[in-house]
Amino acid sequence: MTSATRVLVLNSGSSSVKYQLLDMRDASRLAVGLVERIGEQTSRLKHTCLGTGESREQSGPIADHDAALKAVAGELARDGLGLDSPELAAIGHRVVHGGMFFTEPTVIDQAVLTEIERLIPVAPLHNPANLTGIRTAMALRPDLPQVAVFDTAFHTTMPESAARYAIDPRIADRYRIRRYGFHGTSHAYVARETARLLGKDPADTNVIVLHLGNGASASAVRGGRCVETSMGMTPLEGLVMGTRSGDLDPAVIFHLARVGDMSMDEIDTLLNKRSGLFGLCGDNDMREIRRRIDEGDEEAALAFDIYIHRLKKYIGAYYAVLGRVDAVAFTAGVGENAAPVRQAAVAGLDGLGLAVDGGLNAVRGGEARLISPASARVAVAVVPTDEELEIATQTYELVGNRS
Ligand code: ADP
Repeated sequence: MTSATRVLVLNSGSSSVKYQLLDMRDASRLAVGLVERIGEQTSRLKHTCLGTGESREQSGPIADHDAALKAVAGELARDGLGLDSPELAAIGHRVVHGGMFFTEPTVIDQAVLTEIERLIPVAPLHNPANLTGIRTAMALRPDLPQVAVFDTAFHTTMPESAARYAIDPRIADRYRIRRYGFHGTSHAYVARETARLLGKDPADTNVIVLHLGNGASASAVRGGRCVETSMGMTPLEGLVMGTRSGDLDPAVIFHLARVGDMSMDEIDTLLNKRSGLFGLCGDNDMREIRRRIDEGDEEAALAFDIYIHRLKKYIGAYYAVLGRVDAVAFTAGVGENAAPVRQAAVAGLDGLGLAVDGGLNAVRGGEARLISPASARVAVAVVPTDEELEIATQTYELVGNRS
C-alpha cells in the first residue's frame, strides 16, 4: 500500500466543472468547489478548503476547461493540496454515457477515450463535456491514473427483457437504441446504504430506489444488481421531472411535427427543457410548488398530482418486477427534503406493506433514516445520496493499490 490516498473527483459539464478532493483513508472531504459559466465573461470559481474552513471566489472570464482546471489546480495548491502532490492517487471522472461497453469503472487510456467518443451520438450533450474534462486533466497529470465512472454502468446488469425496446432488433442494434438508464452511481450507492441501514447484506436485499432531483429516476435493485430502471436510451424516459416530461406516447412527437409544425429541435427542447413540473405549472422547484399549493394554487396542485401519480405507478411496477421488496429508498433533492412527496407517493399502498410514519417523515436531517412505522412489512427510508463519494470509492478501489 502506498501513501497516495487522495482522489480528486471531477464532474465536467458543458459550461461547468464540479470537483471534490477526498482522502480515502476516512472518506473525508479536503476541498470542494465549482467553476461555472466557463467560456463566458462572467465565469466564477468557488473553492472551499474543508481543513481551514476557508472559502474563496474568483470571478472574471475563464475561457475553456483547460483554464478552468488550471484555476482549480491553483486553488488546491494554495491550500497545500496541489495536483502534483505525491498523496494524490488518482482522478475519478464522472462520465454520463458508457453504453453497453463499460460495465465497471475503467482506467482511462486512448482506447477508452475513443470508445467514450464513439458514444457521443447517444449522449450528445454530456459525453463531449466529460471528454474535455478528462483530456484536460490528463494533460495536467499524464502520469496519474485517471478513472472513468459511468452513470450507465450500474444498469448494465438489466436483463434484455427490461433493456430492449419492442422494436426491430436490427434497427435497434444499428443505432444502439436500448434502455441504458442513468444516475447509476447514485442508485448503486443508495441501494447499498439502504441495506446497511437495515443491517442486511446488500446481496440479500431488494430495494426500489427513487432518485428524485431535478432529473429523476427509479430503479429496481435485486441483491445489489440493477434489474430495471426508469430512464431509457436518454434521460427523457420515465418519471415526471423538473423540466422533462418523462413517459409519453411517442406518437405525440409525430403529431407535434406534422400537425404542430414543430421542428425536431423544438420538440427536443419542449420535452427536455420546458416540460415536467415546469411545463405543467411554470415552476420546477418542489419548494415553490408546495408553497403555491399551500396558497390554494390549482395549477401547482395538478402538477404535484401528476408527479405523484407517475411515481406511484413506478413503485407498483417495480414491486411486481422484484416480487419481494425489502425497502423503498428516497434520495436526491426532492427525495431527501420533500416530506409531502414521500407521504403522497406511498399513500394508499398499505396493501403492499408500504406506509410512512408522519412523525418520522417530518424529521429533517442529513443521515440515512427509516420513515416507516416499526410494524411495516417493507421499510421506507430516506437515504442521502453521495455520488462524489461513490466515484471516489470506485476510483480508489481500482487504483489504490497500483500506484
Ligand atoms: P440535480 O442534481 O438533479 O440538479 P438535486 O438532487 O440537487 O438536483 O435536486 C434539486 C431539486 O430538489 C430542486 O429543484 C428542488 O425541487 C428540490 N429541493 C431541494 N431542496 C428542497 C427542499 N428543502 N424541499 C423540497 N424540495 C427541495
